[in-house]
Amino acid sequence: MLFGPGPSDVAPSVLQAMARPVIGHLDPAFVAILDEIGDMLRLVFKTKNEVTFAVSGTGSAGMEMALVNILEPGDRVVVGVAGVFGERMAEVARRGGAQVDEVSVPWGRPLDLAEMRTAVKRARPKVVAFVHAETSTGVRQPVDEIARMARDAGALVVLDAVTSLAGIPVFVDGWGIDVCYAGTQKCLSVPPGLAPITFSPRAMDAIRTRRTPVPSWYLDVGLITRYWGAERVYHHTAPISMLYALHEGLRLALDEGLEDRWNRHERLGEELQRSIVDLGFTLLAAEGFRLPQLTSAAVPDGVDEKTARRRLLDEFGIEVGGGLGAFAGKAWRIGLMGESCRKEKLDRLLEAIAAITRA
Ligand SMILES: *Cc1c(COP(=O)(O)O)cnc(C)c1O
Repeated sequence: MLFGPGPSDVAPSVLQAMARPVIGHLDPAFVAILDEIGDMLRLVFKTKNEVTFAVSGTGSAGMEMALVNILEPGDRVVVGVAGVFGERMAEVARRGGAQVDEVSVPWGRPLDLAEMRTAVKRARPKVVAFVHAETSTGVRQPVDEIARMARDAGALVVLDAVTSLAGIPVFVDGWGIDVCYAGTQKCLSVPPGLAPITFSPRAMDAIRTRRTPVPSWYLDVGLITRYWGAERVYHHTAPISMLYALHEGLRLALDEGLEDRWNRHERLGEELQRSIVDLGFTLLAAEGFRLPQLTSAAVPDGVDEKTARRRLLDEFGIEVGGGLGAFAGKAWRIGLMGESCRKEKLDRLLEAIAAITRA
């Protein structure tokens, strides 16, 4: 059972979808599947954006696609950094030649709205970018306030929703997000390999009026939308089997209902956090900003995190994640994402953790 920071458990019907015969990427039957994926992604992202599709690549490919299309050399970008994935956004933007202002907070804390505002006032950036659900710390960012401040200052807003999409509320249009990307292997519970992404009309205008071509040919949204859009021009061979899987994963999420799915994560995440505190763990994300689908917690005194994690895997067939960055060597990251976020699975996880930390 997968209780790490992704991948999460995959539903049998998703695995079955992947085993269907491969057909051509321009076959009318396959093109109909692409159209349905676009429609379902718009429902899950809560957006009307026409340019909504899945990048061939994992969540990081979504990050790179978002930033290389929207930024040109010399453009200024303010990046909120609250953990590993915020740092990655800043690095991707720097490699694209942008001038990056990082606004950092200590690990476990949410971004500071006042500091973000000060940085935006000073830099007058083209783009403000940050992570919604910081998987390295378990912190949930207050997206609405930061996005509104950025838009009021005239910036485009790029949001990483890799760990949030289909786990906690994401409102791309409601929050005024210009580019939002996700991944398949977290709360969507589809194997890793695709990055759902959506671009607002404002973002597409900024891309169309670039002075320089997008430096990445593979991730050029203008070229890729000629395949995902009505023209159906070959760009690269679509990963057929992965798209079958995403189609089925989205169908399952919408069949359950997004609100019910968010509630399931909220409820079981709270139960996990309450229960491991009782077992002697210390939660590391600031109270009031804890993600239900990713819990970072220091292991009890006297427990060696690496040995205990190995025993969970060997004796119970359970995977949890180790700490990253500032939390390495002392903490676990426990994911309750998508198909892994089920009451009966949580009960087995808690029994196993209790058995191992007591012994
Ligand atoms: C997992 C993750 C990524 C990177 O996704 P990959 O699929 O590993 O490339 C980016 N951002 C966040 C917040 C993540 O949790």
